[in-house]
Amino acid sequence: MRDVFLYNTASREVEKLEPLSPPRVSYYSCGPTVYNHVHVGNLRTYVFTDTVRRVLEYAGYDVLHVMNITDVGHMTTDQDEGADKMQVAAERERKSPWEVAEHYTRLFLADVDALNVQRPHVLCRATDHIREMLDLTARLVERGCAYVTPSGVYFDTTAMPDYGKLARLNLSGQEDGARVEPHPDKRHPRDFALWKLDQPTHAMQWDSPWGRGYPGWHIECSAMAMRFLGETIDLHSGGIDHIPVHHENEIAQSECATGKTFAKVWMHAGFLTIGDTKISKSLGNFFTLSDLAGKGFDPLSFRYFCYTAKYRQPLNFTDQALRAAQKTLQGIRNFVRYAPESALSGEEPFVAPLREQFAAAICHDLNMPQAVAVVLEMIREANRTREPRVLEALFDFDRVLGLGLREVRSETTALPPTIRSRVAEREEARVQRDFARSDALRDEVLAEGWILEDTPEGVRVRPREREES
Ligand code: AMP
Ligand code: ZN
Repeated sequence: MRDVFLYNTASREVEKLEPLSPPRVSYYSCGPTVYNHVHVGNLRTYVFTDTVRRVLEYAGYDVLHVMNITDVGHMTTDQDEGADKMQVAAERERKSPWEVAEHYTRLFLADVDALNVQRPHVLCRATDHIREMLDLTARLVERGCAYVTPSGVYFDTTAMPDYGKLARLNLSGQEDGARVEPHPDKRHPRDFALWKLDQPTHAMQWDSPWGRGYPGWHIECSAMAMRFLGETIDLHSGGIDHIPVHHENEIAQSECATGKTFAKVWMHAGFLTIGDTKISKSLGNFFTLSDLAGKGFDPLSFRYFCYTAKYRQPLNFTDQALRAAQKTLQGIRNFVRYAPESALSGEEPFVAPLREQFAAAICHDLNMPQAVAVVLEMIREANRTREPRVLEALFDFDRVLGLGLREVRSETTALPPTIRSRVAEREEARVQRDFARSDALRDEVLAEGWILEDTPEGVRVRPREREES
Protein backbone atom coordinates (compact mmCIF):
# COMPACT_ATOMS: atom_id res chain seq x y z
CA MET A 1 0.00 0.00 0.00
CA ARG A 2 1.08 3.50 -0.72
CA ASP A 3 0.60 6.24 1.88
CA VAL A 4 -2.23 8.61 1.05
CA PHE A 5 -2.36 12.14 2.42
CA LEU A 6 -5.71 13.90 2.65
CA TYR A 7 -6.85 17.30 3.81
CA ASN A 8 -8.99 16.69 6.88
CA THR A 9 -11.56 19.43 7.40
CA ALA A 10 -11.64 18.48 11.10
CA SER A 11 -7.98 19.37 11.68
CA ARG A 12 -7.60 21.80 8.74
CA GLU A 13 -4.44 19.90 7.82
CA VAL A 14 -3.22 17.44 5.24
CA GLU A 15 -2.82 14.19 7.17
CA LYS A 16 -1.63 10.70 6.41
CA LEU A 17 -4.63 8.40 6.18
CA GLU A 18 -4.54 5.92 9.07
CA PRO A 19 -7.52 3.60 8.68
CA LEU A 20 -8.74 1.67 11.73
CA SER A 21 -8.12 -1.72 10.12
CA PRO A 22 -6.01 -1.43 6.99
CA PRO A 23 -6.17 -2.31 4.19
CA ARG A 24 -9.86 -1.69 4.72
CA VAL A 25 -11.17 1.88 4.50
CA SER A 26 -14.77 2.52 5.50
CA TYR A 27 -16.10 5.43 3.50
CA TYR A 28 -19.46 7.19 3.75
CA SER A 29 -20.40 9.95 1.34
CA CYS A 30 -23.58 11.98 1.45
CA GLY A 31 -25.84 11.28 -1.50
CA PRO A 32 -28.58 13.22 -3.24
CA THR A 33 -32.02 14.23 -2.07
CA VAL A 34 -34.11 12.85 -4.91
CA TYR A 35 -36.67 15.61 -5.36
CA ASN A 36 -35.40 17.06 -8.65
CA HIS A 37 -32.79 16.62 -11.37
CA VAL A 38 -29.20 16.71 -10.18
CA HIS A 39 -27.29 19.58 -11.73
CA VAL A 40 -23.68 19.71 -12.85
CA GLY A 41 -22.68 21.28 -9.51
CA ASN A 42 -23.97 18.25 -7.64
CA LEU A 43 -22.22 16.06 -10.19
CA ARG A 44 -18.89 17.69 -9.48
CA THR A 45 -19.28 16.46 -5.91
CA TYR A 46 -20.10 12.89 -7.02
CA VAL A 47 -17.12 12.84 -9.40
CA PHE A 48 -15.02 13.95 -6.43
CA THR A 49 -16.48 11.16 -4.27
CA ASP A 50 -15.69 8.60 -6.95
CA THR A 51 -12.17 9.98 -7.32
CA VAL A 52 -11.57 9.57 -3.59
CA ARG A 53 -12.50 5.92 -3.84
CA ARG A 54 -10.49 5.30 -7.02
CA VAL A 55 -7.38 6.94 -5.55
CA LEU A 56 -7.59 4.84 -2.38
CA GLU A 57 -8.04 1.70 -4.45
CA TYR A 58 -5.13 2.65 -6.68
CA ALA A 59 -3.02 3.08 -3.54
CA GLY A 60 -3.93 -0.49 -2.57
CA TYR A 61 -6.72 0.03 -0.03
CA ASP A 62 -9.83 -2.06 0.10
CA VAL A 63 -12.61 0.52 0.22
CA LEU A 64 -16.12 -0.14 1.44
CA HIS A 65 -18.15 2.77 0.10
CA VAL A 66 -21.64 3.58 1.36
CA MET A 67 -23.83 6.36 -0.03
CA ASN A 68 -27.37 7.31 0.90
CA ILE A 69 -30.35 8.35 -1.15
CA THR A 70 -32.38 10.84 0.86
CA ASP A 71 -36.05 10.27 0.07
CA VAL A 72 -37.64 11.83 3.17
CA GLY A 73 -36.98 14.50 5.78
CA HIS A 74 -34.69 16.98 4.00
CA MET A 75 -36.36 20.31 4.67
CA THR A 76 -36.14 23.36 2.44
CA THR A 77 -33.50 24.78 4.76
CA ASP A 78 -30.61 22.71 6.09
CA GLN A 79 -31.58 23.98 9.57
CA ASP A 80 -34.69 21.83 9.12
CA GLU A 81 -37.23 24.59 8.95
CA GLY A 82 -39.68 24.81 6.05
CA ALA A 83 -41.31 21.88 4.29
CA ASP A 84 -39.95 18.49 3.26
CA LYS A 85 -38.45 18.83 -0.23
CA MET A 86 -39.91 15.44 -1.22
CA GLN A 87 -43.39 16.48 -0.13
CA VAL A 88 -43.14 19.78 -2.03
CA ALA A 89 -42.02 17.93 -5.17
CA ALA A 90 -44.83 15.40 -4.83
CA GLU A 91 -47.41 18.19 -4.68
CA ARG A 92 -45.76 19.98 -7.62
CA GLU A 93 -45.72 16.85 -9.78
CA ARG A 94 -49.02 15.42 -8.50
CA LYS A 95 -47.36 12.14 -7.64
CA SER A 96 -46.65 10.33 -4.41
CA PRO A 97 -43.27 11.11 -2.83
CA TRP A 98 -42.36 7.45 -3.44
CA GLU A 99 -42.90 7.90 -7.17
CA VAL A 100 -40.93 11.13 -7.15
CA ALA A 101 -38.07 9.37 -5.36
CA GLU A 102 -38.11 6.45 -7.77
CA HIS A 103 -38.09 8.75 -10.81
CA TYR A 104 -35.25 11.04 -9.73
CA THR A 105 -33.18 8.20 -8.31
CA ARG A 106 -33.26 6.56 -11.74
CA LEU A 107 -32.20 9.81 -13.45
CA PHE A 108 -29.45 10.36 -10.88
CA LEU A 109 -28.03 6.89 -11.48
CA ALA A 110 -28.13 7.39 -15.25
CA ASP A 111 -26.10 10.60 -14.86
CA VAL A 112 -23.47 9.15 -12.57
CA ASP A 113 -23.19 6.04 -14.75
CA ALA A 114 -22.56 8.26 -17.78
CA LEU A 115 -19.74 9.91 -15.81
CA ASN A 116 -18.15 6.52 -15.02
CA VAL A 117 -18.83 7.15 -11.34
CA GLN A 118 -18.66 3.70 -9.79
CA ARG A 119 -21.76 2.65 -7.94
CA PRO A 120 -21.11 2.57 -4.18
CA HIS A 121 -20.96 -0.89 -2.63
CA VAL A 122 -24.02 0.06 -0.62
CA LEU A 123 -26.57 2.56 -1.91
CA CYS A 124 -29.10 2.93 0.87
CA ARG A 125 -32.46 4.66 0.84
CA ALA A 126 -33.40 6.52 4.01
CA THR A 127 -36.92 5.06 4.00
CA ASP A 128 -35.44 1.54 4.18
CA HIS A 129 -33.72 2.31 7.48
CA ILE A 130 -36.34 4.01 9.64
CA ARG A 131 -35.81 1.38 12.35
CA GLU A 132 -32.13 2.35 12.78
CA MET A 133 -33.07 6.05 12.91
CA LEU A 134 -35.65 5.39 15.61
CA ASP A 135 -33.15 3.35 17.62
CA LEU A 136 -30.56 6.10 17.46
CA THR A 137 -33.13 8.74 18.40
CA ALA A 138 -34.26 6.63 21.37
CA ARG A 139 -30.66 6.28 22.50
CA LEU A 140 -30.22 10.06 22.42
CA VAL A 141 -33.43 10.65 24.38
CA GLU A 142 -32.34 8.06 26.94
CA ARG A 143 -28.95 9.72 27.34
CA GLY A 144 -30.55 13.12 27.87
CA CYS A 145 -29.14 14.55 24.61
CA ALA A 146 -32.56 14.96 23.02
CA TYR A 147 -35.95 16.22 24.18
CA VAL A 148 -39.48 15.46 23.12
CA THR A 149 -41.96 18.22 22.20
CA PRO A 150 -45.32 18.19 20.42
CA SER A 151 -43.68 19.18 17.10
CA GLY A 152 -40.84 16.68 17.25
CA VAL A 153 -37.89 15.17 19.03
CA TYR A 154 -34.99 17.61 19.01
CA PHE A 155 -31.29 17.18 19.60
CA ASP A 156 -30.05 19.41 22.41
CA THR A 157 -26.88 21.01 21.05
CA THR A 158 -25.84 22.13 24.51
CA ALA A 159 -25.51 18.43 25.47
CA MET A 160 -22.43 18.27 23.27
CA PRO A 161 -19.64 20.32 24.88
CA ASP A 162 -17.69 20.62 21.62
CA TYR A 163 -20.68 21.25 19.35
CA GLY A 164 -19.47 23.29 16.37
CA LYS A 165 -15.97 21.79 16.30
CA LEU A 166 -15.98 20.79 12.62
CA ALA A 167 -17.00 24.17 11.26
CA ARG A 168 -15.35 25.99 14.18
CA LEU A 169 -18.59 27.82 14.75
CA ASN A 170 -18.63 30.85 16.95
CA LEU A 171 -21.55 29.95 19.16
CA SER A 172 -21.45 32.94 21.48
CA GLY A 173 -23.76 35.07 19.38
CA GLN A 174 -25.54 32.17 17.64
CA GLU A 175 -25.69 34.42 14.55
CA ASP A 176 -25.78 31.68 11.94
CA GLY A 177 -28.34 29.57 13.71
CA ALA A 178 -30.51 32.59 14.14
CA ARG A 179 -30.59 33.32 10.41
CA VAL A 180 -33.60 31.07 10.14
CA GLU A 181 -36.48 31.67 12.54
CA PRO A 182 -36.29 28.56 14.73
CA HIS A 183 -39.30 26.54 15.73
CA PRO A 184 -40.66 27.79 19.08
CA ASP A 185 -40.32 24.27 20.54
CA LYS A 186 -36.54 24.36 20.11
CA ARG A 187 -34.64 25.26 23.26
CA HIS A 188 -31.67 26.66 21.33
CA PRO A 189 -31.57 28.01 17.79
CA ARG A 190 -29.15 25.32 16.57
CA ASP A 191 -31.08 22.38 18.01
CA PHE A 192 -32.38 20.19 15.22
CA ALA A 193 -35.11 17.66 14.61
CA LEU A 194 -34.33 13.97 14.92
CA TRP A 195 -37.97 12.98 14.47
CA LYS A 196 -40.71 15.24 13.11
CA LEU A 197 -44.18 15.01 14.64
CA ASP A 198 -47.50 16.70 14.19
CA GLN A 199 -47.55 17.02 10.40
CA PRO A 200 -50.72 15.14 9.48
CA THR A 201 -50.59 16.12 5.79
CA HIS A 202 -47.10 14.70 5.26
CA ALA A 203 -47.41 11.63 3.03
CA MET A 204 -44.56 9.59 4.50
CA GLN A 205 -45.09 8.69 8.16
CA TRP A 206 -44.07 5.91 10.49
CA ASP A 207 -45.05 4.92 14.01
CA SER A 208 -42.61 5.81 16.76
CA PRO A 209 -42.58 5.83 20.59
CA TRP A 210 -43.39 9.57 20.32
CA GLY A 211 -46.15 9.37 17.72
CA ARG A 212 -46.43 9.09 13.94
CA GLY A 213 -43.86 11.11 12.06
CA TYR A 214 -40.70 10.96 10.00
CA PRO A 215 -36.94 11.34 10.48
CA GLY A 216 -34.83 14.46 10.04
CA TRP A 217 -32.16 14.51 7.32
CA HIS A 218 -29.13 14.53 9.63
CA ILE A 219 -30.10 11.46 11.68
CA GLU A 220 -30.54 9.52 8.45
CA CYS A 221 -26.87 9.76 7.54
CA SER A 222 -25.64 8.92 11.05
CA ALA A 223 -27.94 5.91 11.32
CA MET A 224 -27.06 4.50 7.90
CA ALA A 225 -23.33 5.15 8.24
CA MET A 226 -23.26 3.29 11.56
CA ARG A 227 -25.53 0.53 10.27
CA PHE A 228 -23.14 -0.37 7.46
CA LEU A 229 -19.74 0.83 8.66
CA GLY A 230 -19.76 0.78 12.46
CA GLU A 231 -19.63 3.50 15.11
CA THR A 232 -16.32 4.96 13.93
CA ILE A 233 -15.73 5.31 10.21
CA ASP A 234 -12.46 6.10 8.47
CA LEU A 235 -13.64 8.68 6.00
CA HIS A 236 -16.73 10.81 5.45
CA SER A 237 -17.28 13.27 2.64
CA GLY A 238 -19.75 15.70 1.13
CA GLY A 239 -19.99 19.14 -0.40
CA ILE A 240 -18.52 22.15 1.36
CA ASP A 241 -22.02 23.41 2.21
CA HIS A 242 -22.49 20.38 4.48
CA ILE A 243 -19.86 21.50 6.96
CA PRO A 244 -21.68 23.97 9.22
CA VAL A 245 -25.01 22.21 9.67
CA HIS A 246 -25.40 18.72 8.23
CA HIS A 247 -22.00 17.32 9.15
CA GLU A 248 -21.79 19.25 12.40
CA ASN A 249 -25.11 17.68 13.38
CA GLU A 250 -24.10 14.20 12.21
CA ILE A 251 -21.05 14.44 14.48
CA ALA A 252 -23.02 15.76 17.45
CA GLN A 253 -25.72 13.12 17.46
CA SER A 254 -23.39 10.21 16.62
CA GLU A 255 -20.78 11.09 19.21
CA CYS A 256 -23.36 11.81 21.91
CA ALA A 257 -24.92 8.41 21.25
CA THR A 258 -21.73 6.34 21.17
CA GLY A 259 -19.13 8.35 23.08
CA LYS A 260 -16.74 7.61 20.18
CA THR A 261 -15.27 9.60 17.32
CA PHE A 262 -17.75 9.36 14.45
CA ALA A 263 -15.45 9.91 11.45
CA LYS A 264 -11.67 10.12 11.53
CA VAL A 265 -11.32 12.14 8.33
CA TRP A 266 -13.76 14.63 6.80
CA MET A 267 -13.38 15.71 3.19
CA HIS A 268 -15.36 18.37 1.36
CA ALA A 269 -15.63 19.30 -2.30
CA GLY A 270 -15.70 22.93 -3.39
CA PHE A 271 -18.46 24.43 -5.47
CA LEU A 272 -18.92 24.52 -9.19
CA THR A 273 -19.62 28.17 -9.91
CA ILE A 274 -20.76 30.47 -12.66
CA GLY A 275 -18.94 33.73 -12.24
CA ASP A 276 -18.68 34.00 -8.48
CA THR A 277 -22.01 32.34 -7.82
CA LYS A 278 -22.45 28.71 -6.88
CA ILE A 279 -24.64 26.65 -9.18
CA SER A 280 -27.78 25.92 -7.24
CA LYS A 281 -31.34 24.80 -7.70
CA SER A 282 -32.61 27.53 -5.43
CA LEU A 283 -30.75 30.24 -7.37
CA GLY A 284 -32.17 28.91 -10.64
CA ASN A 285 -28.82 29.09 -12.45
CA PHE A 286 -28.44 25.35 -12.82
CA PHE A 287 -28.24 23.01 -15.77
CA THR A 288 -27.92 19.29 -16.12
CA LEU A 289 -25.74 16.76 -17.85
CA SER A 290 -28.47 16.34 -20.49
CA ASP A 291 -28.34 20.08 -21.16
CA LEU A 292 -24.63 19.68 -21.86
CA ALA A 293 -25.24 16.65 -24.08
CA GLY A 294 -27.73 18.80 -26.03
CA LYS A 295 -24.90 21.23 -26.73
CA GLY A 296 -22.69 18.44 -28.10
CA PHE A 297 -20.68 17.73 -24.97
CA ASP A 298 -19.66 14.24 -24.02
CA PRO A 299 -20.38 13.45 -20.32
CA LEU A 300 -16.78 12.36 -19.81
CA SER A 301 -15.59 15.78 -20.96
CA PHE A 302 -17.32 17.07 -17.87
CA ARG A 303 -15.50 14.47 -15.78
CA TYR A 304 -12.20 15.57 -17.32
CA PHE A 305 -13.14 19.22 -16.73
CA CYS A 306 -13.52 18.43 -13.01
CA TYR A 307 -9.83 17.49 -12.96
CA THR A 308 -8.77 20.93 -14.08
CA ALA A 309 -9.02 22.33 -10.54
CA LYS A 310 -8.13 20.85 -7.17
CA TYR A 311 -11.25 19.48 -5.55
CA ARG A 312 -11.29 21.96 -2.66
CA GLN A 313 -11.08 25.00 -4.93
CA PRO A 314 -14.12 26.49 -6.57
CA LEU A 315 -14.30 25.51 -10.24
CA ASN A 316 -15.76 28.06 -12.60
CA PHE A 317 -17.94 26.68 -15.36
CA THR A 318 -17.90 28.17 -18.84
CA ASP A 319 -18.76 26.57 -22.19
CA GLN A 320 -15.35 27.60 -23.37
CA ALA A 321 -13.56 25.81 -20.51
CA LEU A 322 -15.64 22.70 -21.07
CA ARG A 323 -14.88 22.82 -24.79
CA ALA A 324 -11.17 23.02 -24.00
CA ALA A 325 -11.52 20.00 -21.69
CA GLN A 326 -13.36 18.10 -24.39
CA LYS A 327 -10.65 18.86 -26.91
CA THR A 328 -7.90 17.65 -24.61
CA LEU A 329 -9.84 14.49 -23.84
CA GLN A 330 -10.35 13.88 -27.56
CA GLY A 331 -6.60 14.14 -28.04
CA ILE A 332 -5.99 11.54 -25.33
CA ARG A 333 -8.61 9.24 -26.80
CA ASN A 334 -7.32 9.58 -30.32
CA PHE A 335 -3.86 8.71 -29.15
CA VAL A 336 -5.22 5.61 -27.41
CA ARG A 337 -7.39 4.61 -30.36
CA TYR A 338 -4.85 4.85 -33.10
CA ALA A 339 -1.51 4.05 -31.48
CA PRO A 340 -0.04 1.01 -33.26
CA GLU A 341 -0.41 -2.47 -31.84
CA SER A 342 3.23 -2.38 -30.72
CA ALA A 343 2.24 0.32 -28.20
CA LEU A 344 0.85 -2.45 -26.06
CA SER A 345 4.03 -4.45 -25.65
CA GLY A 346 6.50 -3.30 -23.05
CA GLU A 347 7.11 0.20 -21.78
CA GLU A 348 9.36 3.08 -22.72
CA PRO A 349 12.05 3.98 -20.17
CA PHE A 350 10.57 7.47 -19.73
CA VAL A 351 7.35 5.96 -18.35
CA ALA A 352 8.62 4.74 -14.96
CA PRO A 353 9.33 8.20 -13.51
CA LEU A 354 6.00 9.44 -14.87
CA ARG A 355 4.20 6.58 -13.15
CA GLU A 356 5.83 7.68 -9.93
CA GLN A 357 4.83 11.30 -10.49
CA PHE A 358 1.25 10.29 -11.21
CA ALA A 359 0.96 8.22 -8.02
CA ALA A 360 2.59 10.95 -5.95
CA ALA A 361 0.15 13.56 -7.32
CA ILE A 362 -3.02 11.62 -6.64
CA CYS A 363 -1.88 10.44 -3.22
CA HIS A 364 -1.16 13.99 -2.14
CA ASP A 365 -4.71 15.09 -1.46
CA LEU A 366 -5.98 14.12 -4.93
CA ASN A 367 -3.94 16.54 -7.00
CA MET A 368 -5.79 15.78 -10.24
CA PRO A 369 -4.57 18.81 -12.22
CA GLN A 370 -1.05 17.51 -11.62
CA ALA A 371 -2.09 13.94 -12.47
CA VAL A 372 -3.56 14.90 -15.86
CA ALA A 373 -0.47 17.01 -16.56
CA VAL A 374 1.55 13.79 -16.19
CA VAL A 375 -0.76 12.02 -18.65
CA LEU A 376 -0.36 14.77 -21.24
CA GLU A 377 3.39 14.83 -20.72
CA MET A 378 3.55 11.10 -21.35
CA ILE A 379 1.61 11.36 -24.61
CA ARG A 380 3.71 14.32 -25.73
CA GLU A 381 6.87 12.38 -25.04
CA ALA A 382 5.54 9.32 -26.89
CA ASN A 383 4.75 11.47 -29.93
CA ARG A 384 8.01 13.35 -29.77
CA THR A 385 10.18 10.25 -29.57
CA ARG A 386 7.87 8.22 -31.82
CA GLU A 387 7.95 5.57 -29.12
CA PRO A 388 4.31 4.77 -28.41
CA ARG A 389 4.74 2.05 -25.79
CA VAL A 390 2.85 3.90 -23.06
CA LEU A 391 -0.64 2.45 -23.45
CA GLU A 392 -0.46 0.08 -20.50
CA ALA A 393 0.54 2.97 -18.25
CA LEU A 394 -2.37 5.04 -19.59
CA PHE A 395 -4.79 2.21 -18.87
CA ASP A 396 -3.33 1.92 -15.40
CA PHE A 397 -3.82 5.66 -14.76
CA ASP A 398 -7.34 5.36 -16.07
CA ARG A 399 -8.23 3.21 -13.05
CA VAL A 400 -8.20 6.60 -11.30
CA LEU A 401 -9.22 8.90 -14.14
CA GLY A 402 -12.25 6.86 -15.18
CA LEU A 403 -12.19 8.09 -18.77
CA GLY A 404 -12.98 4.70 -20.30
CA LEU A 405 -9.72 4.50 -22.25
CA ARG A 406 -9.65 0.71 -22.53
CA GLU A 407 -13.12 0.75 -24.09
CA VAL A 408 -12.00 3.42 -26.53
CA ARG A 409 -9.10 1.21 -27.59
CA SER A 410 -11.23 -1.86 -28.08
CA GLU A 411 -13.52 0.07 -30.46
CA THR A 412 -10.69 0.16 -32.97
CA THR A 413 -9.15 -3.29 -32.65
CA ALA A 414 -10.79 -4.25 -35.94
CA LEU A 415 -8.98 -1.52 -37.90
CA PRO A 416 -6.23 -2.66 -40.28
CA PRO A 417 -2.84 -1.57 -38.88
CA THR A 418 -2.04 0.58 -41.95
CA ILE A 419 -5.24 2.58 -41.47
CA ARG A 420 -4.67 2.90 -37.75
CA SER A 421 -1.17 4.25 -38.20
CA ARG A 422 -2.25 6.76 -40.84
CA VAL A 423 -5.02 8.05 -38.61
CA ALA A 424 -2.50 8.43 -35.80
CA GLU A 425 -0.21 10.32 -38.12
CA ARG A 426 -3.06 12.59 -39.17
CA GLU A 427 -3.86 13.34 -35.51
CA GLU A 428 -0.30 14.36 -34.94
CA ALA A 429 -0.29 16.50 -38.08
CA ARG A 430 -3.40 18.26 -36.75
CA VAL A 431 -1.71 18.92 -33.43
CA GLN A 432 1.22 20.40 -35.36
CA ARG A 433 -1.33 22.43 -37.38
CA ASP A 434 0.00 20.86 -40.58
CA PHE A 435 -3.39 20.82 -42.25
CA ALA A 436 -2.13 20.02 -45.74
CA ARG A 437 -0.57 16.82 -44.44
CA SER A 438 -3.64 16.06 -42.37
CA ASP A 439 -5.94 16.42 -45.41
CA ALA A 440 -3.65 14.31 -47.56
CA LEU A 441 -3.74 11.53 -44.98
CA ARG A 442 -7.49 11.69 -44.78
CA ASP A 443 -7.71 11.30 -48.56
CA GLU A 444 -5.35 8.34 -48.51
CA VAL A 445 -7.47 6.63 -45.88
CA LEU A 446 -10.61 7.43 -47.86
CA ALA A 447 -9.09 5.93 -51.00
CA GLU A 448 -8.75 2.69 -49.09
CA GLY A 449 -12.42 2.74 -48.14
CA TRP A 450 -12.44 4.37 -44.67
CA ILE A 451 -14.16 7.55 -43.60
CA LEU A 452 -12.81 9.83 -40.89
CA GLU A 453 -15.31 11.79 -38.83
CA ASP A 454 -14.55 14.33 -36.13
CA THR A 455 -17.02 13.82 -33.27
CA PRO A 456 -17.34 15.05 -29.66
CA GLU A 457 -15.67 11.79 -28.59
CA GLY A 458 -12.75 12.35 -30.95
CA VAL A 459 -12.00 11.23 -34.47
CA ARG A 460 -13.88 8.10 -35.56
CA VAL A 461 -13.08 5.79 -38.43
CA ARG A 462 -15.72 3.73 -40.20
CA PRO A 463 -15.85 1.75 -43.44
CA ARG A 464 -17.26 3.70 -46.35
CA GLU A 465 -20.71 2.54 -47.40
CA ARG A 466 -21.28 1.82 -51.06
CA GLU A 467 -23.64 4.78 -51.57
CA GLU A 468 -21.04 7.18 -50.21
CA SER A 469 -18.47 6.31 -52.86
P1 AMP B 1 -28.32 18.79 -2.54
O1 AMP B 1 -29.16 18.12 -3.59
O2 AMP B 1 -28.47 20.25 -2.46
O3 AMP B 1 -28.42 18.08 -1.21
O4 AMP B 1 -26.82 18.59 -3.01
C1 AMP B 1 -26.26 17.33 -3.29
C2 AMP B 1 -24.76 17.42 -3.22
O5 AMP B 1 -24.23 18.33 -4.19
C3 AMP B 1 -24.23 17.91 -1.89
O6 AMP B 1 -23.09 17.14 -1.55
C4 AMP B 1 -23.86 19.35 -2.14
O7 AMP B 1 -22.82 19.74 -1.30
C5 AMP B 1 -23.40 19.28 -3.56
N1 AMP B 1 -23.54 20.57 -4.28
C6 AMP B 1 -24.61 21.37 -4.36
N2 AMP B 1 -24.38 22.44 -5.15
C7 AMP B 1 -23.09 22.31 -5.59
C8 AMP B 1 -22.24 23.08 -6.46
N3 AMP B 1 -22.64 24.21 -7.05
N4 AMP B 1 -20.98 22.61 -6.68
C9 AMP B 1 -20.56 21.46 -6.12
N5 AMP B 1 -21.32 20.69 -5.30
C10 AMP B 1 -22.57 21.10 -5.05
ZN1 ZN C 1 -25.39 13.17 4.85
